[in-house]
Amino acid sequence: MKTLLPGATLGVLGGGQLGRMWSHAAQALGYRTAVLDPDAHSPAGLVSHVHVAADYLDPAALQQMAAQCHAITTEFENVPAEALHQLGLSLPCAPGADPVAVAQDRAKEKAHFVACGVPVAPHAVLHSEAGLVSVSPDLFPGILKTTRLGYDGKGQVRVASLADLPAAWQQLQGAGPTVCILEKRLPLAAECSVVLARGFDGQMVHLPVQVNLHRDGILAVTEVFAHALPAATEHQAVQAACDVARGLNYVGVLCVEFFLLHDGPERDALGPLVVNEIAPRPHNSGHHSIDSCDVSQFELQVRCMAGLPLVQPRLHSASVMLNLLGDLWFAQGDEAMEPPWPQVLALPGVHLHLYGKTQARTGRKMGHLTITAATPEAAKQVALQAAAILGIAAW
Ligand code: ADP
Ligand code: MG
Repeated sequence: MKTLLPGATLGVLGGGQLGRMWSHAAQALGYRTAVLDPDAHSPAGLVSHVHVAADYLDPAALQQMAAQCHAITTEFENVPAEALHQLGLSLPCAPGADPVAVAQDRAKEKAHFVACGVPVAPHAVLHSEAGLVSVSPDLFPGILKTTRLGYDGKGQVRVASLADLPAAWQQLQGAGPTVCILEKRLPLAAECSVVLARGFDGQMVHLPVQVNLHRDGILAVTEVFAHALPAATEHQAVQAACDVARGLNYVGVLCVEFFLLHDGPERDALGPLVVNEIAPRPHNSGHHSIDSCDVSQFELQVRCMAGLPLVQPRLHSASVMLNLLGDLWFAQGDEAMEPPWPQVLALPGVHLHLYGKTQARTGRKMGHLTITAATPEAAKQVALQAAAILGIAAW
């Protein structure tokens, strides 16, 4: 593909915070940005040169994006793959419609992992109520997940035993009939993720392995320290992520999430690694890279779609990322109050990112805080201080 030089217009499907941070990175490199998102006040639309406020499948809107943009990316995996397919007929798309369609469907995603030979949780795809009785008892205790449209732990129910499966199935059929996947619940010692970038020429680079803590199914904390995990584990995670990307003939930024299993009775002993899921875009767990690496996941996304060279990111600071959920705005009661930013910003190495969302809601991602420091201990200490000020529970 021909390199798109600064001055060209780069387009994104989806106008959330990932699109906003991507837009900042693209504009820093001298590109114009265009956003397609139905929300007139979308975080990315507010900071882009062009905002097409229309449905993702609106023919006139897709035509407008095709006419104005020189390449397209997505910041949201549930953007209809068809929109990417149509834009892909006339423009380079990174990623393309096919890998996004795989990431949108947990059953296709798992099948792809199996085809790549990477380890996955034992699972079964369930198409109908009649099929529930024949599920293997080995999959319990399990988690039943919708194959489509789940995120931040939504569209999932824990299932203790086969006897509880029909009720869980019914619970997930609420919004209309939906295929589900039952996964065995695994004993997690930790979770981690790898964000990689793959160019049109197949070259791959990746961010350092990120260790993630979820609360209520939502990412709460990411810690990124050199050698936080055993070298063999990190190597295995990076290799698996690269295998998954290569197998999809992926172009763009991809996040691969992993479970690190317990090894035996010892609480913190790390056992085998299992691939959980992929996101065909930059990821919440990679936000630290804006402040802790010499090239961020958003700049990598820009470089991929513009056909610019990819360079291996270098972690220059130990970092801790804290998600700022809407809950923090309600720490004092029902009335929304701005959290005490000046107090947090008085701490060393604190980088505050707010996404320009006007309405705080419980569980809504309003921003994040990255703490950078010379050592992991110092980053963690300041992060705990910031968390205490904001009312985020220690970890
Ligand atoms: P989402 O798309 O909502 O991120 P995930 O499948 O990643 O869905 O699940 C959210 C979180 O739930 C995971 O990060 C992990 O903490 C927990 N979880 C999901 N599946 C399993 C499993 N099979 N065993 C143990 N924990 C799980
Ligand atoms: Mg997840």
